[in-house]
Amino acid sequence: MKKYLGVDIGGMNTKVALVDENCEIISYALGDTPISGGPQAEIALIAEILKYLDISLDIVHSVGIGIPGPVDLKGVVHNPPNLNGWGNVGFKKLFTEYFKYPADSIYIDNDANFAAIAEYTIGSGAQADPMIMLTLGTGVGGSVLINGSPIRGENGFAGELGHIVLNPDGPRCGCGRRGCAEALISHTGIVRTAWEILRKDKGSIIWGMLDGEFGELSPKIIENAADLGDPAANKVLDITANYLGSLLADLINIFNPERIVIGGGISRWGDALINPARKIAVKNALKHLAKNVKIVRAKFYRKAGVLGAAIIAMKKHST
Ligand SMILES: [Zn+2]
Repeated sequence: MKKYLGVDIGGMNTKVALVDENCEIISYALGDTPISGGPQAEIALIAEILKYLDISLDIVHSVGIGIPGPVDLKGVVHNPPNLNGWGNVGFKKLFTEYFKYPADSIYIDNDANFAAIAEYTIGSGAQADPMIMLTLGTGVGGSVLINGSPIRGENGFAGELGHIVLNPDGPRCGCGRRGCAEALISHTGIVRTAWEILRKDKGSIIWGMLDGEFGELSPKIIENAADLGDPAANKVLDITANYLGSLLADLINIFNPERIVIGGGISRWGDALINPARKIAVKNALKHLAKNVKIVRAKFYRKAGVLGAAIIAMKKHST
């Protein structure tokens, strides 16, 4: 049976998985993404993980590598914001030179595209067409699959769903505009909303849960407080669900998707967030577009990226 390697380079850690033809993970490990040393240090880390897993690239049919940032059509990585000291990098060339592995068996793409491919092929995406993957985590990312392939745009960068403006008077986004989805329904966006509410509600149980450790405020704590009926936490949930619903309505109107899959850490909030957001989306989108759309939670969480990377390596290399 042929074997494929999936690598998912994240801002915090790098995951490596050996996957078989049935998309089953044979071996898996992760290591801390180097905070200095740039792409060379990253290559050395991948080598270390392969050694730890006792994987020789001689048995690997092809390799997929996910990057948390823009990747162009030639596989060149463009200034990934969460990887220190990278700049513009021909990562495929580096990988080929270091491992003496053939360049035409390596596939590099943005991590959101790989997560979408994993959900489409073996997850909640159910081979829907079009399928949209929306990832709510540290940032808000996404990918739009038409017939199972990500839309690319002219340079390969299409699908920045996190920079759709939901509130023009909202907080400043990393991209420079105000009120992008990324500034409102990412981890930091939700925490910012929570602080605005908490400043006016000194009776919230969240204050007790934080016990003076104000840096600890997270979507998870807000979720727990909402479950306990805390009005401030429920207000944060309502605001977040409204913004998410509004974003979903825009996506429905633009793409007329068969299915939207919501992944990333924030999606773990589950039905309490997704059910009201779905209602708002269907209510606000154009009726004939929203009629049949399914909005579901992702199946995979931490391993979506490595699985998608290996699946793409498999699909591309068998054609
Ligand atoms: Zn933005």
